[in-house]
Amino acid sequence: MQLLLVEDDDAIAEPLVEGLAREGFSVVRVASGRDALAGHHPDLVILDLGLPDMDGYSVCQQIRAVSAVPILVITARGDEGDKVLGLELGADDYLVKPFGFRELVARIRAVMRRVPEPAAEGVQELGPLRLDRRARKVFVGAGEITLSPKEYELLVLLAADPGAVVDRQTILEEVWDPHWYGPTKTVDVHVASLRKKLGHPEWIETVRKVGLRLGGALVGEG
Ligand code: CA
Repeated sequence: MQLLLVEDDDAIAEPLVEGLAREGFSVVRVASGRDALAGHHPDLVILDLGLPDMDGYSVCQQIRAVSAVPILVITARGDEGDKVLGLELGADDYLVKPFGFRELVARIRAVMRRVPEPAAEGVQELGPLRLDRRARKVFVGAGEITLSPKEYELLVLLAADPGAVVDRQTILEEVWDPHWYGPTKTVDVHVASLRKKLGHPEWIETVRKVGLRLGGALVGEG
């Protein structure tokens, strides 16, 4: 997932770029409103309102005029009026500085979840794997694979951003329950079963101590 971070303050931007990259996001950072409007095509914009060259609200409005991309506003202005204005001008969410990094990541994921996946309606093909979300069917080559509901949800979650690492907490929250505190071994059992059913264990990679990602032929890695 591509993020565009619009933030002029290096002391804020640099750790964010690093942290977000560790979370598996690919981040382009710009430091001015003019650069923010210079033809980027991100999946989400993180927009600081206090920019040196332009009013952040105007940047927000100009992005929204040409694109439906989700915009997450970050600002030092904690005013309720600012928040309302930001949301009225098309921002999807609003975070007041100083905010915690986990909070930012949670907001990014929440905003992205509200955006309909382009593939959510139809059929997604990843190499020999075909996911038909409307019919909840999975095919490998010409053969249909029968998955349990959890196996299916897990595969769909990983396929939402092929190749990106999804951390275990997110998997537990998305596929199991937002308040899952049970044994995380449950995930391993379902992954093992899913790998077996797909017949290509390398398609679901375990990233040690982090989580899972789709790999191998599904993302053109051979
Ligand atoms: Ca600023």
